[in-house]
Amino acid sequence: TTSRRPLVAGNWKMNGSAALAASLSQAVRAAAPAQVEVLLCPPFPYLAQVQAALVGSGVQLGAQDLAVAQDGAFTGEVSGAMLRDVGCGYVLVGHSERRTLYGETDAVVAEKFAAAQAQGLRPILCVGETLDEHEAGEAEAVVRRQLDAVLNKVGIAAFADAVVAYEPVWAIGTGLTATPAQAQTLHAVIRAHLADQDASVAAAVRLLYGGSVKADNAASLLAEKDIDGGLIGGASLDADSFLAICQAA
Ligand code: PEP
Repeated sequence: TTSRRPLVAGNWKMNGSAALAASLSQAVRAAAPAQVEVLLCPPFPYLAQVQAALVGSGVQLGAQDLAVAQDGAFTGEVSGAMLRDVGCGYVLVGHSERRTLYGETDAVVAEKFAAAQAQGLRPILCVGETLDEHEAGEAEAVVRRQLDAVLNKVGIAAFADAVVAYEPVWAIGTGLTATPAQAQTLHAVIRAHLADQDASVAAAVRLLYGGSVKADNAASLLAEKDIDGGLIGGASLDADSFLAICQAA
Protein backbone atom coordinates (compact mmCIF):
# COMPACT_ATOMS: atom_id res chain seq x y z
CA THR A 1 0.00 0.00 0.00
CA THR A 2 2.99 2.28 -0.37
CA SER A 3 5.33 3.16 -3.19
CA ARG A 4 8.26 3.18 -0.83
CA ARG A 5 10.54 0.24 -1.67
CA PRO A 6 11.44 -1.66 1.50
CA LEU A 7 15.08 -1.45 2.61
CA VAL A 8 16.73 -3.96 4.90
CA ALA A 9 20.24 -3.02 6.03
CA GLY A 10 22.68 -5.25 7.88
CA ASN A 11 25.04 -3.44 10.25
CA TRP A 12 27.79 -5.91 11.06
CA LYS A 13 29.36 -3.47 13.55
CA MET A 14 32.92 -4.50 14.54
CA ASN A 15 32.30 -8.20 13.97
CA GLY A 16 33.54 -10.86 11.64
CA SER A 17 36.58 -11.70 9.59
CA ALA A 18 37.45 -11.93 5.93
CA ALA A 19 36.10 -15.47 5.97
CA LEU A 20 32.76 -14.41 7.47
CA ALA A 21 32.53 -11.46 5.09
CA ALA A 22 32.98 -13.87 2.17
CA SER A 23 30.41 -16.39 3.33
CA LEU A 24 27.81 -13.80 4.35
CA SER A 25 28.04 -11.79 1.16
CA GLN A 26 27.84 -14.95 -0.94
CA ALA A 27 24.80 -16.25 0.93
CA VAL A 28 22.97 -12.91 0.85
CA ARG A 29 23.72 -12.37 -2.82
CA ALA A 30 22.38 -15.82 -3.66
CA ALA A 31 19.03 -15.43 -1.91
CA ALA A 32 18.20 -11.71 -1.48
CA PRO A 33 14.57 -11.14 -2.53
CA ALA A 34 14.26 -8.84 -5.53
CA GLN A 35 11.33 -6.81 -4.20
CA VAL A 36 13.40 -5.52 -1.29
CA GLU A 37 16.51 -3.35 -1.39
CA VAL A 38 19.14 -5.18 0.62
CA LEU A 39 22.19 -3.40 2.01
CA LEU A 40 25.28 -4.73 3.77
CA CYS A 41 27.40 -2.50 6.01
CA PRO A 42 30.60 -4.39 6.85
CA PRO A 43 33.59 -3.00 8.76
CA PHE A 44 35.87 -0.74 6.66
CA PRO A 45 38.60 -3.36 5.98
CA TYR A 46 36.09 -5.67 4.26
CA LEU A 47 34.27 -3.12 2.12
CA ALA A 48 36.25 -3.73 -1.05
CA GLN A 49 36.03 -7.48 -0.65
CA VAL A 50 32.27 -7.40 -0.09
CA GLN A 51 31.85 -5.01 -3.00
CA ALA A 52 33.64 -7.48 -5.27
CA ALA A 53 31.47 -10.31 -3.99
CA LEU A 54 28.28 -8.34 -4.70
CA VAL A 55 29.10 -7.11 -8.22
CA GLY A 56 26.22 -7.70 -10.60
CA SER A 57 23.74 -8.48 -7.81
CA GLY A 58 21.23 -5.92 -6.64
CA VAL A 59 22.63 -6.02 -3.11
CA GLN A 60 23.98 -2.64 -2.02
CA LEU A 61 27.08 -1.73 -0.05
CA GLY A 62 27.29 0.78 2.77
CA ALA A 63 29.65 1.89 5.51
CA GLN A 64 29.01 2.33 9.23
CA ASP A 65 30.50 5.79 9.64
CA LEU A 66 32.50 8.44 7.79
CA ALA A 67 34.72 11.40 8.58
CA VAL A 68 33.44 14.97 8.60
CA ALA A 69 36.48 16.06 6.59
CA GLN A 70 37.05 15.21 2.92
CA ASP A 71 40.75 14.46 3.12
CA GLY A 72 43.93 15.49 4.86
CA ALA A 73 45.77 15.00 8.11
CA PHE A 74 43.11 13.07 10.05
CA THR A 75 44.85 9.88 11.12
CA GLY A 76 42.52 6.93 11.41
CA GLU A 77 39.59 8.58 9.64
CA VAL A 78 37.87 7.39 6.45
CA SER A 79 36.27 9.90 4.10
CA GLY A 80 33.04 9.69 2.17
CA ALA A 81 34.99 9.98 -1.08
CA MET A 82 36.96 6.85 -0.17
CA LEU A 83 33.75 5.02 0.62
CA ARG A 84 32.31 6.00 -2.77
CA ASP A 85 35.55 4.91 -4.36
CA VAL A 86 35.19 1.36 -3.02
CA GLY A 87 31.56 1.13 -4.10
CA CYS A 88 29.49 2.30 -1.16
CA GLY A 89 26.13 3.85 -1.94
CA TYR A 90 25.04 4.39 1.65
CA VAL A 91 26.56 5.27 5.01
CA LEU A 92 25.14 5.14 8.53
CA VAL A 93 25.27 8.49 10.29
CA GLY A 94 24.75 9.01 14.01
CA HIS A 95 24.36 5.40 15.04
CA SER A 96 23.67 5.35 18.78
CA GLU A 97 27.00 3.63 19.44
CA ARG A 98 28.77 6.53 17.72
CA ARG A 99 26.74 8.99 19.76
CA THR A 100 27.13 7.30 23.14
CA LEU A 101 30.55 5.62 22.95
CA TYR A 102 32.38 8.18 20.79
CA GLY A 103 30.70 11.38 21.84
CA GLU A 104 29.14 12.31 18.52
CA THR A 105 26.91 15.29 19.18
CA ASP A 106 23.88 16.29 17.15
CA ALA A 107 26.12 18.90 15.50
CA VAL A 108 28.74 16.33 14.46
CA VAL A 109 26.03 14.03 13.15
CA ALA A 110 24.65 16.88 11.05
CA GLU A 111 28.12 17.55 9.65
CA LYS A 112 28.53 13.88 8.76
CA PHE A 113 25.14 13.84 7.06
CA ALA A 114 26.17 16.81 4.93
CA ALA A 115 29.61 15.30 4.23
CA ALA A 116 28.02 12.04 3.08
CA GLN A 117 25.76 13.80 0.60
CA ALA A 118 28.57 16.04 -0.61
CA GLN A 119 30.46 12.86 -1.52
CA GLY A 120 27.53 11.22 -3.29
CA LEU A 121 26.53 8.85 -0.49
CA ARG A 122 23.01 8.36 0.83
CA PRO A 123 23.04 8.90 4.58
CA ILE A 124 20.99 6.67 6.85
CA LEU A 125 20.40 9.00 9.78
CA CYS A 126 19.98 7.06 13.02
CA VAL A 127 17.85 8.61 15.75
CA GLY A 128 16.36 7.28 18.97
CA GLU A 129 16.03 7.81 22.68
CA THR A 130 18.00 6.19 25.50
CA LEU A 131 16.35 4.14 28.23
CA ASP A 132 16.39 7.10 30.64
CA GLU A 133 14.83 9.35 28.04
CA HIS A 134 12.29 6.65 27.23
CA GLU A 135 11.28 6.27 30.87
CA ALA A 136 11.07 10.04 31.26
CA GLY A 137 8.59 10.20 28.39
CA GLU A 138 11.01 12.20 26.25
CA ALA A 139 11.27 9.91 23.23
CA GLU A 140 9.37 12.13 20.83
CA ALA A 141 11.19 15.29 21.92
CA VAL A 142 14.58 13.61 21.59
CA VAL A 143 13.86 12.34 18.11
CA ARG A 144 12.59 15.76 16.99
CA ARG A 145 15.73 17.40 18.41
CA GLN A 146 17.97 14.92 16.59
CA LEU A 147 16.11 15.53 13.32
CA ASP A 148 16.17 19.30 13.78
CA ALA A 149 19.95 19.35 14.15
CA VAL A 150 20.22 17.86 10.67
CA LEU A 151 17.30 19.77 9.15
CA ASN A 152 18.75 23.06 10.32
CA LYS A 153 22.03 22.25 8.61
CA VAL A 154 20.97 20.70 5.31
CA GLY A 155 17.29 21.55 4.88
CA ILE A 156 14.34 19.29 4.14
CA ALA A 157 15.23 18.84 0.46
CA ALA A 158 18.28 16.81 1.49
CA PHE A 159 15.96 14.17 2.95
CA ALA A 160 14.74 13.30 -0.55
CA ASP A 161 17.97 11.34 -0.88
CA ALA A 162 18.31 9.99 2.62
CA VAL A 163 16.90 7.37 4.95
CA VAL A 164 16.02 7.74 8.63
CA ALA A 165 16.38 4.83 11.06
CA TYR A 166 14.47 4.98 14.33
CA GLU A 167 16.41 2.93 16.83
CA PRO A 168 15.39 3.16 20.47
CA VAL A 169 18.73 2.76 22.25
CA TRP A 170 17.15 0.54 24.91
CA ALA A 171 16.29 -1.97 22.19
CA ILE A 172 19.68 -2.16 20.48
CA GLY A 173 21.48 -5.41 21.17
CA THR A 174 19.37 -6.00 24.27
CA GLY A 175 16.82 -8.47 22.97
CA LEU A 176 14.14 -5.92 23.93
CA THR A 177 12.11 -4.74 20.97
CA ALA A 178 9.70 -1.89 20.71
CA THR A 179 6.24 -3.28 20.10
CA PRO A 180 5.01 -2.72 16.56
CA ALA A 181 2.59 -0.11 17.91
CA GLN A 182 5.33 1.72 19.85
CA ALA A 183 7.61 1.72 16.84
CA GLN A 184 4.82 2.87 14.52
CA THR A 185 4.03 5.77 16.86
CA LEU A 186 7.59 7.09 16.67
CA HIS A 187 7.84 6.49 12.95
CA ALA A 188 4.68 8.52 12.49
CA VAL A 189 6.17 11.28 14.66
CA ILE A 190 9.27 11.34 12.43
CA ARG A 191 7.25 11.42 9.22
CA ALA A 192 4.96 14.15 10.57
CA HIS A 193 7.94 16.22 11.68
CA LEU A 194 9.42 16.04 8.18
CA ALA A 195 5.98 16.72 6.67
CA ASP A 196 5.79 19.97 8.63
CA GLN A 197 8.49 21.15 6.24
CA ASP A 198 7.65 19.28 3.04
CA ALA A 199 4.79 16.81 2.70
CA SER A 200 6.02 15.13 -0.46
CA VAL A 201 9.55 14.59 0.82
CA ALA A 202 8.07 13.14 4.02
CA ALA A 203 5.76 10.83 2.09
CA ALA A 204 8.64 9.43 0.04
CA VAL A 205 11.40 9.09 2.64
CA ARG A 206 12.05 5.58 3.90
CA LEU A 207 11.96 5.09 7.66
CA LEU A 208 13.64 1.98 9.11
CA TYR A 209 13.13 0.42 12.50
CA GLY A 210 16.14 -0.94 14.36
CA GLY A 211 16.53 -2.63 17.72
CA SER A 212 16.67 -6.39 18.17
CA VAL A 213 14.86 -7.18 14.94
CA LYS A 214 14.94 -10.95 14.45
CA ALA A 215 13.45 -13.40 11.99
CA ASP A 216 10.48 -14.00 14.27
CA ASN A 217 9.48 -10.38 15.00
CA ALA A 218 10.33 -8.74 11.67
CA ALA A 219 7.04 -9.33 9.88
CA SER A 220 4.89 -7.69 12.56
CA LEU A 221 7.15 -4.63 12.79
CA LEU A 222 7.47 -4.23 9.03
CA ALA A 223 3.70 -4.52 8.58
CA GLU A 224 3.24 -1.11 10.26
CA LYS A 225 2.39 1.58 7.77
CA ASP A 226 5.26 3.97 8.43
CA ILE A 227 7.94 1.27 8.87
CA ASP A 228 9.64 0.82 5.51
CA GLY A 229 12.35 -1.60 6.47
CA GLY A 230 14.85 -2.51 9.13
CA LEU A 231 18.34 -1.77 10.35
CA ILE A 232 19.60 -5.08 11.62
CA GLY A 233 22.58 -5.55 13.94
CA GLY A 234 23.07 -8.94 15.58
CA ALA A 235 20.77 -10.89 13.28
CA SER A 236 22.63 -9.62 10.20
CA LEU A 237 25.63 -11.78 11.13
CA ASP A 238 23.65 -14.93 10.47
CA ALA A 239 22.74 -15.35 6.80
CA ASP A 240 19.59 -17.39 7.40
CA SER A 241 18.23 -14.93 9.97
CA PHE A 242 19.08 -11.90 7.87
CA LEU A 243 17.53 -13.41 4.74
CA ALA A 244 14.40 -14.34 6.66
CA ILE A 245 14.08 -10.68 7.74
CA CYS A 246 14.56 -9.59 4.13
CA GLN A 247 11.79 -11.97 3.07
CA ALA A 248 9.49 -10.51 5.71
CA ALA A 249 9.90 -6.98 4.36
C1 PEP B 1 21.84 -1.63 15.37
O1 PEP B 1 22.91 -1.58 15.92
O2 PEP B 1 21.58 -0.82 14.46
C2 PEP B 1 20.89 -2.66 15.80
C3 PEP B 1 19.63 -2.50 15.50
O3 PEP B 1 21.38 -3.72 16.50
P1 PEP B 1 20.56 -5.04 16.99
O4 PEP B 1 19.75 -5.50 15.81
O5 PEP B 1 21.63 -6.03 17.36
O6 PEP B 1 19.72 -4.61 18.13
